[in-house]
Amino acid sequence: MHLERIEMSGFKSFADKTVIEFDEGVTAVVGPNGSGKSNLSEAVRWVLGEQSAKNLRGKKMDDIVFAGSQTRKPVNIAEVTLILNNEDGFLPLEFSEVSITRRYNRNGDSDCFINKKPCRLKDITELLMDSGIGKDSFSMISQGKVEQIFQNKPEDRRVIFEEAAGVARYKNRKTSAERK
Ligand code: ATP
Ligand code: MG
Repeated sequence: MHLERIEMSGFKSFADKTVIEFDEGVTAVVGPNGSGKSNLSEAVRWVLGEQSAKNLRGKKMDDIVFAGSQTRKPVNIAEVTLILNNEDGFLPLEFSEVSITRRYNRNGDSDCFINKKPCRLKDITELLMDSGIGKDSFSMISQGKVEQIFQNKPEDRRVIFEEAAGVARYKNRKTSAERK
């Protein structure tokens, strides 16, 4: 399984529809300061289920929507789609390509789609749980995260190992069953 393509529009500095293809292997994103490298990684993190505006360097969710520039008006909707190659069946879906979309409107509307079918954000989180690519997993290591992992309490550090071992999904279900 690998990330094949990102399609986005209205997300942070990406006002127009932007499509980025990724080949297999290592991809490096380079560019001058302020050109959108971090915004790109945040777009990925957001689709994977990030719910905290702060973790996306904003104060409120509206801050992820293109806010306008000297030459462009602001837009109202941010939309990002990740297209994952699932030929190896890594994700438990009968599709060789899986698209995950998240859309946010300034009016507060928020929509999610798996393979263009409407779903809940929880469905995305559940699909990715134990895959190692969930928003809190080890697939996105941001600046400062390595240090944080070392400084974490053992209980908190354990979460990373549980996700890698593939038990996070069951633990999560157990916790919510116990709460009911
Ligand atoms: P650096 O090399 O300094 O880390 P970078 O390539 O990671 O830079 P980003 O932080 O991704 O750059 O991009 C910052 C730019 O994105 C800023 O110019 C900022 O104004 C712009 N930006 C962020 N949010 C929005 C938004 N909602 N609307 C329009 N532009 C935005
Ligand atoms: Mg940056």
